Parts: sequence; structure tokens; C-alpha cells
Amino acid sequence: MQSFQLYERASTVPEKSYIRGDWQKGYESLTEEFDYWIDDVEGQIPPELHGTLFRNGPGLLDINGHHIHHPFDGDGMISRITFSNGRAHFRNRFVRTEAYLEEQKAGKILYRGVFGTQKPGGWLANAFDFKLKNIANTNVIYWGDKLLALWEAADPHRLDPQTLETLGKEHFQGVLSEGEAFAAHPRFDPSCAQDGGAPCLVNFSIKPGLSTTITIFELNTEGEVVRKHAHKVPGFAFIHDFAITPNYCIFFQNPVTFNPIPFVLGMRGAGECVKFQPHQPTRIVIISRNPEQREVKILETHSGFVFHHANALEVGDEIVIDSICYESLPEVEPESDFREVDFDALQPGQLWRFDINLKDKTVSRELIESRCCEFPTMHSQKVGRPYRYLYMGAAHAETGNAPLQAFLKLDLESGKRQLWSAAPPGFASEPIFVPRPNSEREDDGWVVALVYDSESHRSDVVILDARDLNKGPIARLHLKHHIPYGLHGNFASEVFVPMD
Ligand code: FE
Repeated sequence: MQSFQLYERASTVPEKSYIRGDWQKGYESLTEEFDYWIDDVEGQIPPELHGTLFRNGPGLLDINGHHIHHPFDGDGMISRITFSNGRAHFRNRFVRTEAYLEEQKAGKILYRGVFGTQKPGGWLANAFDFKLKNIANTNVIYWGDKLLALWEAADPHRLDPQTLETLGKEHFQGVLSEGEAFAAHPRFDPSCAQDGGAPCLVNFSIKPGLSTTITIFELNTEGEVVRKHAHKVPGFAFIHDFAITPNYCIFFQNPVTFNPIPFVLGMRGAGECVKFQPHQPTRIVIISRNPEQREVKILETHSGFVFHHANALEVGDEIVIDSICYESLPEVEPESDFREVDFDALQPGQLWRFDINLKDKTVSRELIESRCCEFPTMHSQKVGRPYRYLYMGAAHAETGNAPLQAFLKLDLESGKRQLWSAAPPGFASEPIFVPRPNSEREDDGWVVALVYDSESHRSDVVILDARDLNKGPIARLHLKHHIPYGLHGNFASEVFVPMD
């Protein structure tokens, strides 16, 4: 088995591609809500690019000047970029969660955040307060004619795709109960065998405890839950993402323990009570997508900590899964400020491929990309199937740990890489691949992403030709304002803005 030691940071760290103060500015709140046609465009928006890019992420990093402790605790704000006939339109709106409305009215923090945000008044004011703030900030999907803002520890919020108005919580005709979790990382199955080859959406929820309940949800194209089945696995689990193949759901149960006492006593957020256990193995949990198959397969490997998986596929008795692994989970200290993070002191996320042999119950792994990378995405028709091209946010430099400033395309067949970097002033986010209509090549399309430009303190929508990232953006759409660094989003082929 390979050791992480082999891939330790090179001692000769290249000159920095960023200034920390520039990066920090991307974490300013955006309080205003906009609605306009984007007219400041460099290059040309491809006329064939038609549809809507929805993005979600923390829009507020403070409540009326009171800083939150971690961006993951920031209120969800949806950005919608509409492309049609070579033009683009922007709109953003906060998800009006109950807690958002209450806190905006009060002008102060009323809820503890999972990642350490505390109510004012010290630990006494926070002890024994277990109320969760459903902040709806992690992902946004358009499925079954519903636009849903997702946050992994509670129920989704449904939004009007035309106005981005919050319509209320979505429970899928009573399938979810009030407050029941629905993860923020659904996977799109382009051809579900259980549904006669129709597409379906697969998602999960985690109910942590001494043992963990993993529930699988599968939704048809009408947005109805057609399969829901729950499974118990031993031990506490902190699972943010999963991967699917035609037959399986695959989870990495990261080696962590949870000590709730500091949370109960009001000294730390629940997420800050998770402790990484570097000497314990990662458990790979494999659950059949067929609800009749109750057997849960559990194998062990060493992966460090995984937030995101790129894709998985089946080859005979093997499952192959590509995942971004960290050597450890950085601990958030109660007194620290996330803006002061020392990137050089942390290990980068790197892409690994795991080969899981279900027959022999063995796992082998190989490092595919050592450059610091995150937010892997690919062609949506290749989910769970053999695929060739992967797109990721990446650091500017080949070695070391740094903020994401570039977009990397990886050809998994040839090993060739393409990269476009927005450094030094630009900071990258999750890239989304949009196929060109009627395209046949897997990489025939565009990579669309938000880039924060620290020089102008505004964000750009960047459109890259996915066949050749090296040549740089074919269009750069300058927004009138910045968008705080976001999390996840999706592209829908529908357009919700009236076009003249
Ligand atoms: Fe995520």
C-alpha cells in the first residue's frame, strides 16, 4: 500500500500565486439582491449555450456586523445565471429560511451554527441549546420541476425558479418528515435500470449516533420518491458526499470520533467536536440500490479524510471510485478566525483512485492528481459509468496547498492535463461542465464557473471551452458585485427569465 509520506509537500514551495488579503476579501457578505442583464462581457457568450446555472453558498458571513465563525454557517444565497441567445442574466436571492428571517429581524445571531458560530453571551448563553439552523447553503438542484436549496442536516427548501422566492420546505408528499435530513449531494443517474432506463436522482441522509443510519432516496423525473430504504452501519459517521454506480451507493466513513460534551456545554459547535483519527482506517460502505438487497458491504482502506467523490463505476467484480482525499481533517478551533488560515500548514486535497474488489474484499489505491484540487465535476451522462474527463478547481501551483485559483481538466485515459489559472487576482470555485447540444465527444461543451476577482472586488462568470482549457476563457462576464465563495450548483437546460 502506498504511503502518504511519499507525497509530502516539496520543500521548495514556489513563490505565492496569491496574497492572503486578496483571498480574504472574497469572504465579505453580499447583502444586496440583484436582478439584471449582464452587459459587461469580454469575449463572446456562445449562442448555443442555453440554460441556467444555479449556484448556492453562504451569502452572509456576518449578521449585522457580528461575524459568524465558519463560512459553512453562512446563510444560503442562490445565484442564478441564465444563458440564452448569446446573452446572460443574473439574479441572486437569499433563501428565506425561518432562522434567516428571525436573525435579520433581530439584527443579531440567534442560533448556534454547526461549525462553531455561537450566540453572543459566552458558553452560558449557548449551553444545552440544540436548535439547528437550517441554513440551506450547500447545493441547489432543479429536478422534477422543483428548484431545491439543500443543506445536509435538514429538509430542503423549495424556491420559485422564476423569482427565486422561497416557497417553503419540501417533504416530497410526506416522504420526509419535518426536519428530516436530505443530503446536499444528490447524484444524477442518466439511465436507471430499476426504472426501465429512465433518469433518476439518487440522494441519501445520515442520522449519526453510536451507530449510523444511512437512508437512500431515489426520485423519478416527476420529483417523486420512488425508493427509500434505510441501513444501519456501526460507529459514528461524518459523511458529506457519496458516489453511485448502476447497482450501488458507495460511502466513505471517514475515521473520526465525536465527543459531544463541548457542544452540550456551549463551548464548541457540533462540527468542532469531530476529531480525526489518523491511525484508524476509512470504512468503505457499499449499499445496493435495490431495496430488496439488504446486505451492507464494509471494506477498509486508508484514505485520510474525504469530502467529495468525483465518480464511481463498475468493472466486473470491482468498483472503481475517484475521490479527493486529505491527509487529515483540519480542526476548527473555537478561538480561531477562518480568514487567518495558514494554507501552507495544511495538506492539499488530492485525487486518488480506489479499486474495490467485492469478491476478494480488497482495496487498492493510486494517486492520480497530486496538485491541490477540489470540487470534481464531469459530464452528467457519465455518472456511475466509465468516463474520461474530469474537471476540478485547482491551485495555481503544482505543489503545495493554496486557495483554488485555477480550473484543471484531467484526461483519465491519457493522463494529459489542461489548466487555466486566474492567479494572482482570481479565485476559483466549483466548475460545471455543460455539454454542447447534440455533442458526441465527452468534452465537447463548456466549463462554466464563478471566479472572484480581488482586483475589482467583483465576480466574473467564466466560460471556458472544455476541449481546450489552456486557451483561457472564451467569455468573461463581469458582474456588478462580488459573490462570496460558494459551494455547489447545477446547470438546468430550462430558462426562467423572459427573453425578448
Ligand atoms: Fe460538498
